Amino acid sequence: MDEPILDCLVIGGGPAGLTAAIYLARFHLDILVVDGGKSRTSWIPCTRNHAGYPDGISGEELLQRMRDQACKYGAKIEAEFATKLEREGQSGLFTATWGSGEARARTVLLATGVSNRRPPMDEELHDDALARGLIRYCPICDGYEVTDKRVGVIGSDSHGVAEAVFIRSYTADVTLIAPDAALKLGAEDQRKLKEAEIDCVDGPAQAVALAGECIVVDTAEGHYTFDSVYPALGSDTHTQLGEMVGAALAEDGCFLCDDHQRTNVVGLYAAGDVVHGLDQIGHAMGEGGVAATTIRNDLWTKDPRWREPVEELEQAESGS
Ligand SMILES: Cc1cc2nc3c(=O)[nH]c(=O)nc-3n(C[C@H](O)[C@H](O)[C@H](O)COP(=O)(O)OP(=O)(O)OC[C@H]3O[C@@H](n4cnc5c(N)ncnc54)[C@H](O)[C@@H]3O)c2cc1C
Repeated sequence: MDEPILDCLVIGGGPAGLTAAIYLARFHLDILVVDGGKSRTSWIPCTRNHAGYPDGISGEELLQRMRDQACKYGAKIEAEFATKLEREGQSGLFTATWGSGEARARTVLLATGVSNRRPPMDEELHDDALARGLIRYCPICDGYEVTDKRVGVIGSDSHGVAEAVFIRSYTADVTLIAPDAALKLGAEDQRKLKEAEIDCVDGPAQAVALAGECIVVDTAEGHYTFDSVYPALGSDTHTQLGEMVGAALAEDGCFLCDDHQRTNVVGLYAAGDVVHGLDQIGHAMGEGGVAATTIRNDLWTKDPRWREPVEELEQAESGS
């Protein structure tokens, strides 16, 4: 392996990883971002709660701006999905592997995010509905947009109940639909639904069609038409690479980190949705900034690197 050892390999190029990449590159560190290209931000047709964009911005455009900003300062981005992470016992160096290559690094930042579980429906229909705001995944982000609209929540357990109750502060017309069979809820959940006057419908549920600006859901109790449907079916955390090198997980399946985004593995950091916290762009960016600064300071503590005088830098650049 002749490639130089990176100061930091950032795995994941969503808001957390790209913010970290911007900071790390501007710290004059040698870094690489490896990104599988499935940022949840890329699903957002137009985010309206992310600060600084009063007219909103599409998730793809926001990501592209961040990629441009990181690359402007020297970050490199590989469109690859890392499949393996190893840590050498003696040196503590990391090696990550992906389809077309691998890299060695002093530190690794995992900003690999989570995936929402989708409701059972045709994939093309899903993506069309998502782009048109007929399917939504994040009431904190876009509950405002369903104010006084007809909303269906597909979910069965306390998570589904909590989401339906949350959305009830935006609209009086909320229906909780069981994804598979009849809703089986405990007394406390039933009390919450009754208090909030939320209707319940038995499944199995399947979103079957888009009709004008509405979405039609087929249930055990017939067809229902909504302005928007929120699947509340949970999510899967992308922690596999961290687990390969012994990173500890919290009860909810996210990485356990200290206040500076360090995992329990020396040299391994995590940021964004894959760490327990508020799953939001601003939060992911904040954690990316904290992680990058911690990485810079931890590297510096081990091996301070003073900047060379300008004349020596110029000589090195001209090769003389
Ligand atoms: C429909 C929808 C709407 C939303 N709307 C808003 C909103 O309006 N406002 C808001 O603040 N938040 C919103 N969110 C939440 C927001 O998208 C996330 O909080 C944010 O994307 C988290 O950033 P992240 O960098 O942690 O993870 P992500 O953005 O998910 O990025 C993770 C990246 O890591 C990559 N990756 C994973 N594993 C590997 C691997 N092994 N190798 C290489 N790459 C890998 C993935 O491909 C992905 O590109 C929304 C989410 C959804 C689904």
